[in-house]
Amino acid sequence: MSGRPARPAVLLTAAEAVAAIGCDLRMYGAQLEEFCSLTEVLYGQAARPGRRGDVPGLELPPQPGAEEARFVAWNVAARWLGLAVRQRACEPEVLARLCALVFDQRAEALPGVPADAPCIRLETGMHDFACTRCGSCCLDLDYHSECTAEDVALWRRLGREDILAWVGEEPGPQGPRYLIWRRPGTPLYAERCPFLRRVPGDTAFVCTIHDVKPAICRSYPGLRKHALRTGCKGFPRG
Ligand code: SF4
Repeated sequence: MSGRPARPAVLLTAAEAVAAIGCDLRMYGAQLEEFCSLTEVLYGQAARPGRRGDVPGLELPPQPGAEEARFVAWNVAARWLGLAVRQRACEPEVLARLCALVFDQRAEALPGVPADAPCIRLETGMHDFACTRCGSCCLDLDYHSECTAEDVALWRRLGREDILAWVGEEPGPQGPRYLIWRRPGTPLYAERCPFLRRVPGDTAFVCTIHDVKPAICRSYPGLRKHALRTGCKGFPRG
């Protein structure tokens, strides 16, 4: 459930843009048109859908010095493309083109900024968004999310054991991962947000931890593509 007005654009560092692209590639499964367009930006020629035996995938044009086209199966294509973006997209102009393709919004490179400063301006496409409090984003948690170490630190500081009880903790490559929302004392995820309640006598829902909800909830939906892909109802019907 969205908690604040949507931003018309976001500024991203190169590392944030690469991470956001990788996240999009993994999140929505095989996106045929998008994957082929990305290979065109990365390699100068678009990949084609192909098949090796029973295995569907991407047929990549032969690289200079190689004779055969390369084949990447669908089930690993998202991860493979994410790595290719990480390795090849070092110029802000290239990253801006990739962002525009992946997020289906205007993106531009900002000239003359230091290497670790935001270098991409990406429009969000959220100008006509208004949360209807339909609760759809919190009622159907068929994806599994993580909250941040800052979220957990805040809840610990406030003594919010009621929230912490629903947070799982696992070791990760860069420190602990905090998994939400896990049924207290079990490794099982809740099907719906445990902190969502229906407004009495209304069809709308309310978040009962609104003031301290995790960053991932505060920033949802963020981008129009993410909103539409996850069934958000906050846009005018037309
Ligand atoms: S799905 Fe969209 S409109 Fe509905 S509560 Fe969530 S953010 Fe608001």
